[in-house]
Amino acid sequence: MEKREQLYEGKAKKVYATDDPELLIVDYKDDATAFNGLKKGTIAGKGVINNQMSNRLMAKLEEAGVPTHYVQELSERETLVKKVSIVPLEVIVRNIAAGSFSKRYGVEEGVVFDQPTIEFSYKNDDLGDPLLNTYHALALKLATAEEIATIEKYAFQVNDFLKAFWLSCGVTLVDFKLEFGRLSNGTIVLADEISPDTSRLWDAKTHEKLDKDRFRRDMGGVEEAYAEIMGRMEAHL
Ligand code: ADP
Ligand code: UDP
Repeated sequence: MEKREQLYEGKAKKVYATDDPELLIVDYKDDATAFNGLKKGTIAGKGVINNQMSNRLMAKLEEAGVPTHYVQELSERETLVKKVSIVPLEVIVRNIAAGSFSKRYGVEEGVVFDQPTIEFSYKNDDLGDPLLNTYHALALKLATAEEIATIEKYAFQVNDFLKAFWLSCGVTLVDFKLEFGRLSNGTIVLADEISPDTSRLWDAKTHEKLDKDRFRRDMGGVEEAYAEIMGRMEAHL
């Protein structure tokens, strides 16, 4: 499958058309942004790691019964995916308090929840991705009630799978963001990516951060953390 015209360039990926109207090619960049694009930088090798990690996790999720956009890895940075119309919701699942949850609710980072939480933000850069609830999503016609129920079910299934997988690698899954989309026949599938850009991953013993928080918080060792988490995954596949 060959790349045709570039349809979109986002903060972390470029998206290309192919000869098949139902398929796209995504091309992962090393560019990193945080705080709604205010902080910009590059993380050398990130595109390769995020591409490969996302593909391996999505292949495993398919086996576990969660439909995804993943079709085929084409190169280190490029993947063939099913074209979807993205549901404009950022779906965030949390097992442990961190980031905006800790800030918003005044909870210390690291507090473990009795059960996972789910929240949605409106995927809209101009508005700064505001938090919203199901009623707001319905009022804005971002998705139907049935679609939201399906998305919630899949998001918790993804959490169950990823939590167990990362634990087997000696890694604690703190939280992550998912995006879903509709195929041309309306079927909801998991899209976008699952990577250290979109997840918080801590070493299970030391709680060392092995994700994009090292970039967001200027902690150093960013490339090393991405390489470390990829190595952990490869050792346990
Ligand atoms: P952003 O748009 O937030 O800067 P990226 O740089 O990751 O993010 O760009 C990738 C874009 O492609 C995102 O807008 C994402 O929603 C979209 N996308 C991801 N998977 C698919 C897919 N299978 N079909 C269509 N669009 C997709
Ligand atoms: N996240 C993401 N994209 C976003 C916002 C959040 O991938 O636009 C991920 C983030 O990496 C973390 C989880 O979602 O794993 C929860 O993020 P949080 O709401 O705590 O926001 P942040 O601290 O990034 O502002």
